[in-house]
Amino acid sequence: MHDYDLLVVGSANADLVIGVDRRPEAGETVLGSDLAVHPGGKGANQAVAAARLGARTALLARVGDDGHGRLLLESQRSAGVDTIGVLVGGAPTGVALITVDPSGDNSIVVSPGANARLTPGDVRAAAGLFAASRVVSAQLEIPLETVAEVVRNLAPGTRFVLNPSPPVPLPAEILSACDPLVVNEHEARVILGTTHDSAEEWASALLALGPRSVVITLGAEGALVASGSGSVTVPSVKVAAIDTTGAGDAFTAALAWRLGLGEDLPTAAAFAVRVGAATVTKEGAQTSFPTTEETRAL
Ligand code: ADP
Repeated sequence: MHDYDLLVVGSANADLVIGVDRRPEAGETVLGSDLAVHPGGKGANQAVAAARLGARTALLARVGDDGHGRLLLESQRSAGVDTIGVLVGGAPTGVALITVDPSGDNSIVVSPGANARLTPGDVRAAAGLFAASRVVSAQLEIPLETVAEVVRNLAPGTRFVLNPSPPVPLPAEILSACDPLVVNEHEARVILGTTHDSAEEWASALLALGPRSVVITLGAEGALVASGSGSVTVPSVKVAAIDTTGAGDAFTAALAWRLGLGEDLPTAAAFAVRVGAATVTKEGAQTSFPTTEETRAL
């Protein structure tokens, strides 16, 4: 019996956003809009997305003992995420300093802060959470050695899902645990160090690195799922896209949850593309994640 459908191990950031007429050059000061502060970070986003869909979700992450950390804890709790695994202190909460110009182009500086202090020891200390979870999901906004410790601490029968973002070349130990590895084309290129013409070719090159299955997200085109038994394209739902922020996080959270419920990869991906499509119809990241009812109504 599992207490959690999904344990997300990953980052939690405060996104500090200022609108500007023009992004500043070196040595320049520009005036901008009032500051907007949003809860974000790929780990926090995935946990909120899963909980909003109805998944029993826990987050293992680290935030600072500061206002941004309290904002992140509050946004997790109000979405229904169990925050028993959110560690507090050791460094300031991670922040992303974002300037956005009227064309929508942005410049971003990330200070990983407490995310960089989520250690392999923190993973080992969370053994109870690992034993209680059907699926464990991770991304790469925390140290790679911490993600490696996650795959070493998976309970027998627990499924592991990785979205390697931001991408780096991955050790075989991590790759072979992924079921699936979830990438967009940019992430696939960094992990492989080569380019390919079609999603099928990207998928077979990635499968050759050892993951049990691969999902390639294709934006408005949907996704391609691939495993030893072949590949299937899962088309997206046509929607009017307003803001694609968080679409990949919502997609991966939905996929991980449905796989844990026992669905096969194409069926889980068919649900996840609807969740991704619903996400892009609203502004923001965590504010745009749909419920299961909203997903089915799309
Ligand atoms: P990432 O944000 O990681 O680059 P994608 O842009 O591929 O990932 O988006 C993830 C998923 O969200 C896609 O597989 C798709 O299901 C959905 N999605 C993204 N953009 C759109 C869009 N314009 N229309 C419909 N669905 C979309």
